[in-house]
Amino acid sequence: MTAPTTSPVPTAREGYFAPPTLAAALDLLADGGPTRVIGGGTLVYPRLARDVPTPRRLVDLARIPGMDRITSDDGGTTTIGAGVTYGGLARSPETPPLLRMLAGGITGGPQIRDQGTVGGSACHANPSSDVPGALVALDAVVVLADAARERRMPAREFFRGPFATALAVGELVVAFELGDAVASGAWGYTKLKHGGSGWPVATASAHLVRAGDGSIAAARLTLGAVAAVPVEVRVPPDLAERAPGADVSARAGLRDLVEAAAPDWWSDEQADATYRRRVAGAIAARALARALDGEPS
Ligand SMILES: Cc1cc2nc3c(=O)[nH]c(=O)nc-3n(C[C@H](O)[C@H](O)[C@H](O)COP(=O)(O)OP(=O)(O)OC[C@H]3O[C@@H](n4cnc5c(N)ncnc54)[C@H](O)[C@@H]3O)c2cc1C
Repeated sequence: MTAPTTSPVPTAREGYFAPPTLAAALDLLADGGPTRVIGGGTLVYPRLARDVPTPRRLVDLARIPGMDRITSDDGGTTTIGAGVTYGGLARSPETPPLLRMLAGGITGGPQIRDQGTVGGSACHANPSSDVPGALVALDAVVVLADAARERRMPAREFFRGPFATALAVGELVVAFELGDAVASGAWGYTKLKHGGSGWPVATASAHLVRAGDGSIAAARLTLGAVAAVPVEVRVPPDLAERAPGADVSARAGLRDLVEAAAPDWWSDEQADATYRRRVAGAIAARALARALDGEPS
């Protein structure tokens, strides 16, 4: 009889763990051994069921206190725990307007909305998703921790490419910090979904700041799902006002701005790069229209 090549008995650091504290979770990750972290598990569990090769150590973050909370402090910082679900965003009074709009449009039904987390989506970094673009639009700061230290980085630096982030071995994303700018101005969010799967083909977050006389002082767009990483576009105030209307030259101007800012159009099974390039300007104009119509927050 041939001896089995791998032991079926897990070692002390293999198997499923649901640590009760962040420190205990980070301790499990500290040796750098192959590990799969579980947020809500909506992406991880289907892979397990499909028998995709998976590390023998699973670390589920569900029991860590505070990871699923949204809090605001006196300095104007809102902290979204990495374990906050889309349902949590929709229900909390602390949720900034843009994330509330995003949460209302997630497909997949209550299972995904109450199980999928903001942290899981950010760490998966699928270009065809809502979360990366919104975090960049909000100038979010990603809070990362390993067993030795905590570090912070802007979301626009965290997303490195398709399915690639700045997360290092042994690290977790703990939270996202949003400054008080997210509470000022008016926001608009829109997305084009793939007709069959419901996954985003293009998303746009628009932020308008008005001067005292009501005119637009600054306008910014962040496009998601169209390129490998979110694309940021500063829009001249007069163009922001005219592009959502019937002015053809203003629409073309906005489309040109978007084209110039997105060097790396994304292709996947939802839509190819040519299609995304065609629709991006129109989705951007719709987000601006929503921000123009919206009540200032
Ligand atoms: C039917 C369906 C519909 C969907 N519709 C949409 C949609 O409309 N728009 C959209 O944008 N997305 C959509 N999604 C994707 C959804 O957003 C993700 O499935 C979800 O957010 C992932 O979160 P999770 O906590 O379940 O991740 P998990 O499956 O737990 O983890 C995903 C990845 O992140 C890692 N990870 C998780 N948390 C952490 C952490 N805190 N630190 C470090 N690593 C971590 C895991 O190891 C894994 O690699 C849909 C998914 C499904 C299945």
